Amino acid sequence: MSTGSPEEEYFARLDREKKAAMAAQLDAEAQVKNREAQRALHKGHCGRCGGKLVPQSFRGVEIDVCEDCSSVLLDPGELEALAGKDESGVVASLASMFSFGKKK
Ligand SMILES: [Zn+2]
Repeated sequence: MSTGSPEEEYFARLDREKKAAMAAQLDAEAQVKNREAQRALHKGHCGRCGGKLVPQSFRGVEIDVCEDCSSVLLDPGELEALAGKDESGVVASLASMFSFGKKK
């Protein structure tokens, strides 16, 4: 709905499009900032309970253990490193179950 001239309508439409593009950009920037804030908040904390992760040596591999719930966080390659020292094969079978990002 408009009562303006075609020229006024044209500039009004340009203005609306410009504002929509600016709003979309601000929204994208807010999402990036929010993601960064979330990462900072969770870094060094247990993904299960939010407790503090404490480095601990297990079979010569440095793993992160939650001081509250005892969950273990393995960095990339640590599960494979443990599997290499695993005589029973249990860790090796876990490693093959959870070999994320290594799909053939
Ligand atoms: Zn925990």
